[in-house]
Amino acid sequence: MLIDAHIHLDQYKENDIPTLLEEAEHVIAVSMNLPSCVKTLKLSKAYAKVKAAFGFHPEQSLLSAAEEEALFEWIRQHAHDMVAIGEVGLPYYLRQEKAIDDSMYVALLERFIVLAKEFNKPIVLHAVYEDAAIVCDLLEKHHITKAHFHWFKGDDEVVERMIHNGYFISVTPDCTYEADIQKLIKKYPIELMMVETDGPWPFEGPFDNKQTSPWMMDHSIEVIASIKGLTTQEAARIITRNTTIFYNL
Ligand SMILES: [Zn+2]
Repeated sequence: MLIDAHIHLDQYKENDIPTLLEEAEHVIAVSMNLPSCVKTLKLSKAYAKVKAAFGFHPEQSLLSAAEEEALFEWIRQHAHDMVAIGEVGLPYYLRQEKAIDDSMYVALLERFIVLAKEFNKPIVLHAVYEDAAIVCDLLEKHHITKAHFHWFKGDDEVVERMIHNGYFISVTPDCTYEADIQKLIKKYPIELMMVETDGPWPFEGPFDNKQTSPWMMDHSIEVIASIKGLTTQEAARIITRNTTIFYNL
């Protein structure tokens, strides 16, 4: 069984969660905002396989100053219950839809980076394409080494920089049908790779009309193994070990 390195478990129906968890060794359950943090914490207390990460997803409107303080205060109070800060990052897709003040998002992300450093926890990042270089700048500025770029997509230059810095990426089941992701798998060292579902986000191809669930990662492992010239067992062992060490499970 594999570890799902990034899932929005709080967005599933409560009844579906026990069965879903049977398919994974552990899941890293990330949070969207304060209510999501509270729910994720509850799930991590109810199920030993669930490891919580607390943060604020960047693809949404920013909080008021008071709401932001309340979120940071809550995370500080529950820091001993989290394995990481996340999901945090920059609003790449929101920016395609409307004009936004990027500097406010960058400032918020920097606060989370400082918080992760203060508590010595890994950080789970939503930072794709051009945003990845901005996030690398911030991580380097604060000497962060434990960074996980989930569902990463970006150009060769930033890929080289991330490998050099020892940052991790995770791939979703879309690696079974996306040529760009297969190219990324070829380039990125397997020692810096994890697998995830980002569930309940839906996938296409062989996963069309299926509820996203950890079994889908078996197919991702097959793709990784074939690209890297390994057996699926070898690839699964390396990926699981990476995730266990990275999240200190
Ligand atoms: Zn996510």
